[in-house]
Amino acid sequence: MRELVNRLIELQELEIVHQESTILHKDNPPDELVQLKVRIDALREGVPSNSLARYDGHRRTGLGVVREVGGVCRGCYLNVTMGDLGRMRREEIPWICPNCGRFLQVTSDA
Ligand SMILES: [Zn+2]
Repeated sequence: MRELVNRLIELQELEIVHQESTILHKDNPPDELVQLKVRIDALREGVPSNSLARYDGHRRTGLGVVREVGGVCRGCYLNVTMGDLGRMRREEIPWICPNCGRFLQVTSDA
């Protein structure tokens, strides 16, 4: 799960840069922007389609993957229970916020 979430974090960062750069250079996209799109497409190819659908659904209105800090989801700012966090760290349940459904980058320490 960590590998998938880390990939989504990287994807999201590149997508945001790409979106902002596209607005800046809309008439004449530089080569860097084309390369960025290639990298984005490669990252997306490595994500299972059901996970990508969840991610994209949240990306339409904001972030698709967020960090967990001190037991709080940075997407909805609600607490994730210690029980759920423990199960996520043990990879028993997916790293998805039970409240908002965004992918959650879970910290490794309790
Ligand atoms: Zn949440």
